[in-house]
Amino acid sequence: MSSHGFQFRSDADRDAERGRLERIGRVSVLAALPLMGILVVAGSVAARLLFPHLGSLAHDFAAGGIAVAGSAPFAVLIYRISLQQNLKISEAGADHEREMAKQARRRDFETRLANALEMADGEPEVLDAIARALGNTLPEAPAEMLLADNSHAHLSRMVVASPTGEPPGCDVDSPARCPAARRAQVQRFGDSDDLDACPKLRGRQQGRCSAVCVPVSIMGRTVGVIHATGAAGHPVDETRVQDLQTLASLAGNRIGMIRIMAETQLQASTDGLTGLVNRRTFENRTATLRNDGNEFALVMVDLDHFKDLNDTFGHETGDRALRLFAETLRRSVRRDDLACRYGGEEFAIVLPHATVTDAIDVLERVRVGVRSAISAGNAPTFTASFGIALSSSYADLDEVVARADQALFDAKDAGRDCLWVDGETAAVPAPLCPPTLVATAITDATG
Ligand code: GH3
Ligand code: MG
Ligand code: MG
Repeated sequence: MSSHGFQFRSDADRDAERGRLERIGRVSVLAALPLMGILVVAGSVAARLLFPHLGSLAHDFAAGGIAVAGSAPFAVLIYRISLQQNLKISEAGADHEREMAKQARRRDFETRLANALEMADGEPEVLDAIARALGNTLPEAPAEMLLADNSHAHLSRMVVASPTGEPPGCDVDSPARCPAARRAQVQRFGDSDDLDACPKLRGRQQGRCSAVCVPVSIMGRTVGVIHATGAAGHPVDETRVQDLQTLASLAGNRIGMIRIMAETQLQASTDGLTGLVNRRTFENRTATLRNDGNEFALVMVDLDHFKDLNDTFGHETGDRALRLFAETLRRSVRRDDLACRYGGEEFAIVLPHATVTDAIDVLERVRVGVRSAISAGNAPTFTASFGIALSSSYADLDEVVARADQALFDAKDAGRDCLWVDGETAAVPAPLCPPTLVATAITDATG
């Protein structure tokens, strides 16, 4: 309750109080009329007793004077009370308006922030929006947001907003070591030298400081903190702490949402067993590559006699062999290449801007890699067959795939554990086994 004794939740509250006081005023005036009558009669009696020698007109004046003198203190009292009440109501009204303005500003901040975060469609854009919001909220104070990665184990500085460009520099490295994150509660420290100040505030380059730390939660789990410092003895005020809480809450929700979406997209685009992209994603990306005018070498791959491997060693060993092959593929291709699990024990590789010779080099690396993993005892012996086609030879993407597939069938027919180059593409004799010989043959054929 404020010093004036009134607290209005709305303009209607304040108007109701004003109306109540006006009613009391009217009742007071009505109550004063009989009082005045009594005072006039009492004044008249008193005038006759006190001044018996005066004439009737003088008596009347004396009676009036006594009545006025008798009622004056009441009138002054009523006037002062009503003045005071009106003053209090005005002060309470002003408080109420200030509170309304504060709430409107807070709502405006929240709406703009929610809008900015909603428009940001990736984590970098969200972090940029957070940096701008931090800069608006604390223009003169260094602030930062530390956020854990998906493992929730390590905090990294993801956002800095500072007038000097220097972050406040909290060196806490995990949510478990941050008091605000651990307690899931805003922490305010007036002075880093205080007995109960956060230990992480001590020994800062900038010396003594005040600080505020607001935990950031993603789906109910505290995974980070917004941290800002100020001059020692001048902690961030309550209004701005509330803004920081709003920021932490909305930012946490948005980052959580984006991470879930990314996770879902990843799950939808990758193969669960091998972690390679799945066929649908592969087809989409290959089509995009082609539409963007890029040519590529396409390799279709099929593991040899894989059914026998499953039958002999069991399905789990088969799975291990598939993972091993996928890992070898991943390690053998460049960053811009695309390796995919096409289905079952079939794989596909797209090598942008690669010649047949480049593709053969890659496949040779795969073959050598698989052999060395097998000799390290990571899986039973198995081999693969490959078919290569170049996209530049065909106008239609399906035709490129069909040609690479046909080359793969030819490799199988030729005895497996070898690669076959699509005849139209390479114009070299096939089958060509083992791959090292193909490389030689193509070098010879192309001069
Ligand atoms: P080929 O050399 O002619 O390709 O013979 P193959 O035995 O590899 O071909 P086939 O099409 O007869 O058999 C494919 C095998 O791949 C059968 C199937 O059980 C196995 N396979 C497909 N997907 C998986 C998988 O996810 N895990 C395991 N362990 N095996 C799989
Ligand atoms: Mg197959
Ligand atoms: Mg097979």
